[in-house]
Amino acid sequence: MTTLLGCIADDFTGATDLAGLLARSGVQVSLRIGVPDAPPADTAPFEVIALKSRTAPVEAAKSDVLRALNWLQAAGAQRFFWKYCSTFDSTPDGNIGPVAEALMNALDTDQTIYCPAFPENGRAILMGNLFVGEQPLHESPMKDHPLTPMRDSNLMRLLEPQVTRPVGLANRLVVDRGVLALRDRLQDLKDNGVAHVIVDAVSDADLPIIAEACRDMPLMTGGSAVAMPLPQLYLRDGTLPADAPKAAKPDNLAESGIVLSGSCSAMTRAQVQDYVATGAPAFRLEPLTLADQGADAALTWLGEQDLSRRPLIYATAEPDQVRAAQEKLGTTRAGEIVEQALAACATAARDAGAGRIVVAGGETSGAVTQALGVSQLDIGPEIAPGVPWTYCTTDGKRVALTLKSGNFGTETFFTDAFERLDTA
Ligand code: ADP
Repeated sequence: MTTLLGCIADDFTGATDLAGLLARSGVQVSLRIGVPDAPPADTAPFEVIALKSRTAPVEAAKSDVLRALNWLQAAGAQRFFWKYCSTFDSTPDGNIGPVAEALMNALDTDQTIYCPAFPENGRAILMGNLFVGEQPLHESPMKDHPLTPMRDSNLMRLLEPQVTRPVGLANRLVVDRGVLALRDRLQDLKDNGVAHVIVDAVSDADLPIIAEACRDMPLMTGGSAVAMPLPQLYLRDGTLPADAPKAAKPDNLAESGIVLSGSCSAMTRAQVQDYVATGAPAFRLEPLTLADQGADAALTWLGEQDLSRRPLIYATAEPDQVRAAQEKLGTTRAGEIVEQALAACATAARDAGAGRIVVAGGETSGAVTQALGVSQLDIGPEIAPGVPWTYCTTDGKRVALTLKSGNFGTETFFTDAFERLDTA
Protein backbone atom coordinates (compact mmCIF):
# COMPACT_ATOMS: atom_id res chain seq x y z
CA MET A 1 0.00 0.00 0.00
CA THR A 2 0.98 3.67 -0.19
CA THR A 3 3.68 4.60 2.26
CA LEU A 4 2.46 6.96 4.97
CA LEU A 5 5.69 7.55 6.85
CA GLY A 6 9.08 7.39 5.16
CA CYS A 7 11.94 6.85 7.62
CA ILE A 8 15.65 7.16 7.00
CA ALA A 9 18.13 5.82 9.59
CA ASP A 10 21.83 6.63 9.73
CA ASP A 11 22.90 3.06 10.52
CA PHE A 12 21.60 -0.48 10.23
CA THR A 13 20.94 -1.38 13.85
CA GLY A 14 19.29 2.02 14.36
CA ALA A 15 17.00 1.21 11.47
CA THR A 16 16.09 -2.17 12.98
CA ASP A 17 15.45 -0.53 16.34
CA LEU A 18 13.10 2.04 14.74
CA ALA A 19 11.37 -0.56 12.57
CA GLY A 20 10.83 -2.79 15.63
CA LEU A 21 9.29 0.02 17.69
CA LEU A 22 6.96 1.06 14.84
CA ALA A 23 5.91 -2.59 14.45
CA ARG A 24 4.99 -2.91 18.14
CA SER A 25 1.56 -1.63 17.13
CA GLY A 26 1.10 -4.61 14.77
CA VAL A 27 1.26 -2.50 11.58
CA GLN A 28 3.26 -3.53 8.52
CA VAL A 29 6.78 -2.14 8.57
CA SER A 30 9.33 -2.79 5.86
CA LEU A 31 13.07 -2.28 6.25
CA ARG A 32 15.33 -1.74 3.24
CA ILE A 33 19.07 -2.19 3.48
CA GLY A 34 20.34 0.80 1.49
CA VAL A 35 18.32 2.74 -1.07
CA PRO A 36 16.71 0.21 -3.42
CA ASP A 37 17.83 0.39 -7.05
CA ALA A 38 14.37 -0.50 -8.30
CA PRO A 39 11.44 1.91 -8.02
CA PRO A 40 9.02 1.23 -5.13
CA ALA A 41 6.73 -1.80 -5.40
CA ASP A 42 4.91 -3.75 -2.67
CA THR A 43 5.56 -1.01 -0.17
CA ALA A 44 4.36 -0.97 3.44
CA PRO A 45 2.64 1.96 5.20
CA PHE A 46 5.83 2.38 7.23
CA GLU A 47 9.07 2.14 5.27
CA VAL A 48 12.50 2.40 6.88
CA ILE A 49 15.65 2.78 4.79
CA ALA A 50 18.90 1.86 6.57
CA LEU A 51 21.92 3.89 5.45
CA LYS A 52 25.53 3.87 6.64
CA SER A 53 25.77 7.63 6.90
CA ARG A 54 26.53 8.22 10.59
CA THR A 55 30.24 8.88 10.12
CA ALA A 56 30.35 9.28 6.32
CA PRO A 57 31.66 12.57 4.89
CA VAL A 58 28.89 15.19 5.17
CA GLU A 59 28.30 15.56 1.42
CA ALA A 60 28.11 11.79 0.91
CA ALA A 61 25.64 11.49 3.82
CA LYS A 62 23.45 14.26 2.39
CA SER A 63 23.43 12.75 -1.06
CA ASP A 64 22.52 9.25 0.26
CA VAL A 65 19.75 10.69 2.39
CA LEU A 66 18.30 12.67 -0.51
CA ARG A 67 18.28 9.54 -2.69
CA ALA A 68 16.43 7.75 0.11
CA LEU A 69 13.99 10.66 0.33
CA ASN A 70 13.30 10.48 -3.42
CA TRP A 71 12.59 6.77 -3.20
CA LEU A 72 10.24 7.23 -0.25
CA GLN A 73 8.45 10.07 -2.02
CA ALA A 74 8.01 7.80 -5.04
CA ALA A 75 6.45 5.27 -2.62
CA GLY A 76 3.87 7.95 -1.76
CA ALA A 77 5.21 9.17 1.61
CA GLN A 78 4.44 12.76 2.57
CA ARG A 79 5.76 12.64 6.14
CA PHE A 80 9.34 11.74 6.94
CA PHE A 81 11.41 10.75 9.96
CA TRP A 82 15.20 11.14 10.19
CA LYS A 83 16.53 8.65 12.76
CA TYR A 84 19.90 8.97 14.46
CA CYS A 85 21.38 7.58 17.65
CA SER A 86 19.79 8.31 21.02
CA THR A 87 23.20 9.56 22.16
CA PHE A 88 23.16 12.14 19.32
CA ASP A 89 26.34 10.64 17.81
CA SER A 90 27.80 13.40 15.66
CA THR A 91 30.69 15.87 15.37
CA PRO A 92 30.67 19.68 14.90
CA ASP A 93 30.61 18.95 11.14
CA GLY A 94 27.58 16.66 11.29
CA ASN A 95 25.96 14.57 10.19
CA ILE A 96 22.73 15.10 12.13
CA GLY A 97 22.27 18.83 11.48
CA PRO A 98 23.44 19.05 7.83
CA VAL A 99 21.29 16.06 6.87
CA ALA A 100 18.23 17.48 8.64
CA GLU A 101 18.76 20.82 6.88
CA ALA A 102 19.15 19.09 3.50
CA LEU A 103 15.90 17.22 4.10
CA MET A 104 14.14 20.42 5.21
CA ASN A 105 15.26 22.20 2.04
CA ALA A 106 14.14 19.32 -0.15
CA LEU A 107 10.77 19.24 1.61
CA ASP A 108 10.49 23.03 1.61
CA THR A 109 9.74 23.15 5.33
CA ASP A 110 11.09 25.69 7.78
CA GLN A 111 10.94 23.82 11.09
CA THR A 112 11.72 20.40 12.51
CA ILE A 113 12.20 18.86 15.94
CA TYR A 114 15.11 16.92 17.47
CA CYS A 115 14.14 14.38 20.12
CA PRO A 116 16.73 11.63 20.66
CA ALA A 117 15.15 10.67 24.02
CA PHE A 118 14.52 6.94 24.64
CA PRO A 119 13.27 6.72 28.26
CA GLU A 120 12.95 2.90 28.17
CA ASN A 121 16.70 2.75 27.48
CA GLY A 122 17.64 5.50 29.93
CA ARG A 123 18.03 8.36 27.43
CA ALA A 124 16.30 11.50 28.69
CA ILE A 125 16.43 15.17 27.68
CA LEU A 126 15.85 17.88 30.27
CA MET A 127 16.26 21.59 29.54
CA GLY A 128 17.99 20.61 26.33
CA ASN A 129 20.56 18.42 28.11
CA LEU A 130 20.84 14.75 27.21
CA PHE A 131 21.29 12.15 29.94
CA VAL A 132 22.41 8.52 29.66
CA GLY A 133 20.90 6.92 32.74
CA GLU A 134 21.76 9.35 35.52
CA GLN A 135 24.87 10.69 33.80
CA PRO A 136 24.98 13.73 31.55
CA LEU A 137 26.03 12.62 28.04
CA HIS A 138 29.50 14.18 28.37
CA GLU A 139 30.22 12.13 31.51
CA SER A 140 28.88 8.88 30.01
CA PRO A 141 31.09 6.34 28.17
CA MET A 142 30.13 8.24 24.97
CA LYS A 143 32.76 10.84 25.90
CA ASP A 144 35.40 8.35 24.70
CA HIS A 145 33.69 7.05 21.56
CA PRO A 146 36.40 6.49 18.91
CA LEU A 147 34.53 8.24 16.06
CA THR A 148 32.01 10.56 17.67
CA PRO A 149 33.21 11.48 21.18
CA MET A 150 30.41 13.42 22.89
CA ARG A 151 32.02 16.06 25.12
CA ASP A 152 28.97 18.26 25.71
CA SER A 153 25.48 17.29 26.91
CA ASN A 154 23.65 20.37 25.70
CA LEU A 155 21.86 19.52 22.46
CA MET A 156 21.45 23.16 21.44
CA ARG A 157 25.19 23.72 21.71
CA LEU A 158 25.88 20.43 19.90
CA LEU A 159 23.49 21.24 17.06
CA GLU A 160 24.30 24.94 16.51
CA PRO A 161 27.65 24.43 14.72
CA GLN A 162 26.03 21.78 12.51
CA VAL A 163 23.28 23.98 11.04
CA THR A 164 22.89 27.39 9.39
CA ARG A 165 19.54 28.42 10.92
CA PRO A 166 18.60 29.21 14.55
CA VAL A 167 18.22 26.51 17.19
CA GLY A 168 15.68 26.64 20.06
CA LEU A 169 14.14 24.57 22.84
CA ALA A 170 10.67 23.34 23.76
CA ASN A 171 11.32 22.31 27.33
CA ARG A 172 9.78 19.66 29.57
CA LEU A 173 7.44 22.16 31.28
CA VAL A 174 5.83 22.87 27.91
CA VAL A 175 5.64 19.18 26.97
CA ASP A 176 4.06 18.49 30.36
CA ARG A 177 1.25 20.97 29.55
CA GLY A 178 0.22 18.83 26.59
CA VAL A 179 -0.20 18.76 22.84
CA LEU A 180 -1.71 22.21 22.35
CA ALA A 181 0.86 23.94 24.56
CA LEU A 182 3.67 22.27 22.66
CA ARG A 183 2.14 23.25 19.30
CA ASP A 184 1.86 26.86 20.51
CA ARG A 185 5.48 26.86 21.60
CA LEU A 186 6.62 25.47 18.24
CA GLN A 187 4.57 28.13 16.42
CA ASP A 188 6.08 30.87 18.62
CA LEU A 189 9.55 29.64 17.83
CA LYS A 190 8.69 29.44 14.13
CA ASP A 191 7.40 33.02 14.14
CA ASN A 192 10.79 33.98 15.55
CA GLY A 193 12.66 32.16 12.79
CA VAL A 194 13.71 29.12 14.87
CA ALA A 195 14.09 26.24 12.41
CA HIS A 196 15.62 23.58 14.69
CA VAL A 197 13.81 22.80 17.93
CA ILE A 198 15.19 20.48 20.60
CA VAL A 199 12.24 18.93 22.44
CA ASP A 200 12.68 17.65 26.01
CA ALA A 201 11.38 14.20 26.93
CA VAL A 202 12.05 12.48 30.23
CA SER A 203 9.46 9.73 30.55
CA ASP A 204 7.48 7.46 28.25
CA ALA A 205 4.40 9.62 28.83
CA ASP A 206 6.10 12.56 27.06
CA LEU A 207 6.48 10.68 23.77
CA PRO A 208 2.82 10.49 22.60
CA ILE A 209 2.41 14.20 23.39
CA ILE A 210 5.39 15.11 21.22
CA ALA A 211 4.43 12.70 18.46
CA GLU A 212 0.88 14.05 18.33
CA ALA A 213 1.97 17.69 18.39
CA CYS A 214 4.47 17.13 15.58
CA ARG A 215 2.84 14.42 13.47
CA ASP A 216 1.83 16.81 10.68
CA MET A 217 5.32 18.25 10.28
CA PRO A 218 6.78 17.13 6.94
CA LEU A 219 9.93 16.14 8.84
CA MET A 220 10.49 14.93 12.39
CA THR A 221 13.92 13.87 13.63
CA GLY A 222 15.06 11.91 16.65
CA GLY A 223 15.82 8.56 18.18
CA SER A 224 13.42 5.72 17.55
CA ALA A 225 11.20 6.24 20.62
CA VAL A 226 9.48 9.47 19.58
CA ALA A 227 8.33 7.78 16.35
CA MET A 228 6.83 4.83 18.23
CA PRO A 229 3.39 6.46 18.90
CA LEU A 230 2.87 7.46 15.23
CA PRO A 231 1.24 4.21 13.99
CA GLN A 232 -1.37 4.39 16.79
CA LEU A 233 -2.09 8.02 15.94
CA TYR A 234 -2.52 7.12 12.26
CA LEU A 235 -4.84 4.24 13.19
CA ARG A 236 -6.87 6.40 15.56
CA ASP A 237 -7.78 9.02 12.97
CA GLY A 238 -8.10 6.62 10.04
CA THR A 239 -4.96 7.80 8.19
CA LEU A 240 -4.08 4.11 8.37
CA PRO A 241 -7.34 2.18 7.85
CA ALA A 242 -8.20 -0.24 10.66
CA ASP A 243 -8.46 -3.03 8.07
CA ALA A 244 -5.00 -2.37 6.61
CA PRO A 245 -3.04 -5.65 6.39
CA LYS A 246 -1.22 -6.49 9.63
CA ALA A 247 2.31 -7.82 9.97
CA ALA A 248 1.97 -11.59 9.70
CA LYS A 249 4.25 -14.58 10.16
CA PRO A 250 4.65 -16.46 6.84
CA ASP A 251 2.75 -19.78 6.81
CA ASN A 252 5.49 -21.87 5.30
CA LEU A 253 8.33 -21.02 7.66
CA ALA A 254 10.51 -24.08 8.34
CA GLU A 255 10.79 -25.01 12.05
CA SER A 256 14.50 -25.72 11.85
CA GLY A 257 17.02 -23.02 12.61
CA ILE A 258 20.54 -21.94 13.44
CA VAL A 259 22.35 -19.38 15.61
CA LEU A 260 25.41 -17.64 14.17
CA SER A 261 27.39 -15.49 16.56
CA GLY A 262 30.27 -13.22 15.54
CA SER A 263 29.90 -10.63 18.28
CA CYS A 264 32.41 -10.68 21.15
CA SER A 265 30.56 -8.20 23.37
CA ALA A 266 30.07 -9.04 27.05
CA MET A 267 26.34 -9.68 26.57
CA THR A 268 26.83 -11.92 23.54
CA ARG A 269 29.46 -13.94 25.44
CA ALA A 270 26.91 -14.54 28.20
CA GLN A 271 24.25 -15.42 25.60
CA VAL A 272 26.51 -17.99 23.93
CA GLN A 273 27.35 -19.52 27.29
CA ASP A 274 23.69 -19.69 28.26
CA TYR A 275 22.67 -21.30 24.96
CA VAL A 276 25.47 -23.90 25.13
CA ALA A 277 24.30 -24.71 28.68
CA THR A 278 20.82 -25.55 27.32
CA GLY A 279 22.44 -28.50 25.55
CA ALA A 280 22.16 -27.06 22.03
CA PRO A 281 24.79 -28.47 19.63
CA ALA A 282 27.59 -25.92 19.28
CA PHE A 283 30.68 -25.45 17.10
CA ARG A 284 33.37 -22.93 17.86
CA LEU A 285 35.18 -21.13 15.02
CA GLU A 286 38.87 -20.37 15.58
CA PRO A 287 40.15 -17.48 13.45
CA LEU A 288 43.63 -19.05 13.11
CA THR A 289 42.21 -22.38 11.94
CA LEU A 290 39.92 -20.55 9.54
CA ALA A 291 42.91 -18.63 8.15
CA ASP A 292 44.80 -21.91 7.59
CA GLN A 293 42.08 -24.28 6.51
CA GLY A 294 39.00 -22.22 5.59
CA ALA A 295 35.51 -22.95 6.88
CA ASP A 296 35.32 -26.58 5.67
CA ALA A 297 35.33 -28.11 9.16
CA ALA A 298 32.45 -25.89 10.24
CA LEU A 299 30.49 -26.63 7.08
CA THR A 300 31.05 -30.37 7.47
CA TRP A 301 29.92 -30.20 11.09
CA LEU A 302 26.87 -28.19 10.06
CA GLY A 303 26.03 -30.76 7.38
CA GLU A 304 25.86 -33.46 10.07
CA GLN A 305 23.52 -31.53 12.38
CA ASP A 306 19.83 -31.97 12.95
CA LEU A 307 18.70 -28.38 12.34
CA SER A 308 15.51 -28.91 14.32
CA ARG A 309 17.83 -28.71 17.37
CA ARG A 310 18.83 -25.21 16.25
CA PRO A 311 22.60 -25.52 16.58
CA LEU A 312 25.02 -22.70 17.30
CA ILE A 313 28.15 -21.74 15.38
CA TYR A 314 30.17 -19.04 17.11
CA ALA A 315 33.42 -17.13 16.95
CA THR A 316 32.49 -15.27 20.11
CA ALA A 317 35.54 -15.26 22.38
CA GLU A 318 37.04 -13.57 25.43
CA PRO A 319 38.95 -10.28 24.87
CA ASP A 320 42.41 -11.89 25.33
CA GLN A 321 41.59 -14.58 22.76
CA VAL A 322 40.34 -11.95 20.31
CA ARG A 323 43.51 -9.91 20.86
CA ALA A 324 45.70 -12.97 20.25
CA ALA A 325 43.94 -13.67 16.92
CA GLN A 326 44.15 -10.01 15.95
CA GLU A 327 47.88 -9.86 16.72
CA LYS A 328 48.56 -12.83 14.46
CA LEU A 329 46.18 -11.96 11.60
CA GLY A 330 45.58 -8.21 11.90
CA THR A 331 42.29 -6.87 13.23
CA THR A 332 40.63 -6.37 9.85
CA ARG A 333 41.65 -9.75 8.46
CA ALA A 334 40.62 -11.61 11.62
CA GLY A 335 37.22 -9.90 11.47
CA GLU A 336 36.74 -10.61 7.78
CA ILE A 337 37.73 -14.27 8.03
CA VAL A 338 35.19 -14.82 10.79
CA GLU A 339 32.47 -12.84 9.02
CA GLN A 340 33.02 -14.80 5.79
CA ALA A 341 32.89 -18.14 7.61
CA LEU A 342 29.64 -17.22 9.37
CA ALA A 343 28.17 -15.93 6.10
CA ALA A 344 29.07 -19.26 4.43
CA CYS A 345 27.38 -21.11 7.33
CA ALA A 346 24.26 -18.97 6.87
CA THR A 347 23.86 -19.87 3.20
CA ALA A 348 24.65 -23.54 3.93
CA ALA A 349 22.05 -23.62 6.71
CA ARG A 350 19.47 -21.97 4.44
CA ASP A 351 20.24 -24.50 1.68
CA ALA A 352 19.82 -27.29 4.24
CA GLY A 353 16.34 -25.97 5.04
CA ALA A 354 16.82 -23.70 8.07
CA GLY A 355 13.83 -21.38 8.28
CA ARG A 356 14.95 -19.40 11.34
CA ILE A 357 18.34 -17.72 11.50
CA VAL A 358 19.60 -15.81 14.54
CA VAL A 359 22.66 -13.62 13.98
CA ALA A 360 24.63 -11.85 16.72
CA GLY A 361 26.89 -8.93 15.79
CA GLY A 362 26.37 -5.77 13.77
CA GLU A 363 29.16 -6.34 11.23
CA THR A 364 28.38 -10.05 11.23
CA SER A 365 24.75 -9.22 10.37
CA GLY A 366 25.93 -7.14 7.41
CA ALA A 367 28.03 -10.05 6.11
CA VAL A 368 25.17 -12.54 6.56
CA THR A 369 22.49 -10.42 4.89
CA GLN A 370 24.85 -9.76 2.00
CA ALA A 371 25.61 -13.47 1.57
CA LEU A 372 21.91 -14.31 1.72
CA GLY A 373 21.22 -11.61 -0.87
CA VAL A 374 18.71 -9.93 1.43
CA SER A 375 17.92 -6.26 0.94
CA GLN A 376 14.34 -6.06 2.25
CA LEU A 377 12.94 -7.28 5.57
CA ASP A 378 9.35 -7.33 6.86
CA ILE A 379 9.33 -6.66 10.58
CA GLY A 380 7.86 -9.33 12.85
CA PRO A 381 7.52 -9.75 16.64
CA GLU A 382 9.99 -8.11 19.00
CA ILE A 383 12.31 -10.43 20.94
CA ALA A 384 14.00 -7.80 23.11
CA PRO A 385 13.75 -3.99 23.00
CA GLY A 386 15.14 -2.93 19.63
CA VAL A 387 15.53 -6.49 18.26
CA PRO A 388 12.63 -7.83 16.20
CA TRP A 389 12.32 -10.96 14.13
CA THR A 390 12.17 -10.11 10.46
CA TYR A 391 10.94 -12.07 7.44
CA CYS A 392 12.84 -12.04 4.19
CA THR A 393 13.15 -13.91 0.95
CA THR A 394 16.46 -15.59 0.17
CA ASP A 395 17.00 -17.87 -2.80
CA GLY A 396 13.24 -17.95 -3.31
CA LYS A 397 12.49 -19.14 0.26
CA ARG A 398 10.78 -17.25 3.08
CA VAL A 399 13.10 -17.20 6.08
CA ALA A 400 12.90 -15.57 9.51
CA LEU A 401 16.02 -13.65 10.40
CA THR A 402 16.94 -11.72 13.50
CA LEU A 403 19.96 -9.45 13.56
CA LYS A 404 21.16 -8.55 17.04
CA SER A 405 23.93 -6.08 17.63
CA GLY A 406 26.47 -6.71 20.39
CA ASN A 407 25.00 -5.68 23.69
CA PHE A 408 21.28 -6.07 22.97
CA GLY A 409 19.06 -8.64 24.66
CA THR A 410 19.40 -10.54 27.92
CA GLU A 411 21.37 -13.74 28.60
CA THR A 412 18.61 -16.02 27.35
CA PHE A 413 18.25 -14.15 24.04
CA PHE A 414 18.87 -17.11 21.69
CA THR A 415 16.31 -19.32 23.44
CA ASP A 416 13.92 -16.35 23.77
CA ALA A 417 14.22 -15.67 20.06
CA PHE A 418 13.04 -19.14 19.00
CA GLU A 419 10.30 -19.20 21.64
CA ARG A 420 9.04 -15.80 20.55
CA LEU A 421 8.67 -16.98 16.97
CA ASP A 422 7.20 -20.38 17.90
CA THR A 423 4.40 -18.59 19.74
CA ALA A 424 3.90 -15.73 17.23
P1 ADP B 1 29.17 -6.24 17.73
O1 ADP B 1 27.77 -5.93 17.31
O2 ADP B 1 29.28 -6.89 19.06
O3 ADP B 1 30.10 -5.05 17.56
P2 ADP B 1 30.22 -7.20 15.21
O4 ADP B 1 29.80 -8.39 14.41
O5 ADP B 1 29.81 -5.84 14.69
O6 ADP B 1 29.69 -7.38 16.71
O7 ADP B 1 31.77 -7.14 15.36
C1 ADP B 1 32.54 -8.19 15.85
C2 ADP B 1 33.76 -8.35 14.96
O8 ADP B 1 34.68 -9.22 15.62
C3 ADP B 1 33.42 -8.99 13.61
O9 ADP B 1 34.18 -8.39 12.60
C4 ADP B 1 33.85 -10.44 13.83
O10 ADP B 1 34.18 -11.09 12.63
C5 ADP B 1 35.05 -10.28 14.72
N1 ADP B 1 35.35 -11.47 15.53
C6 ADP B 1 34.47 -12.35 16.02
N2 ADP B 1 35.08 -13.30 16.73
C7 ADP B 1 36.39 -13.04 16.67
C8 ADP B 1 37.54 -13.69 17.23
N3 ADP B 1 37.44 -14.80 17.94
N4 ADP B 1 38.75 -13.14 16.98
C9 ADP B 1 38.84 -12.00 16.26
N5 ADP B 1 37.79 -11.35 15.71
C10 ADP B 1 36.58 -11.85 15.91
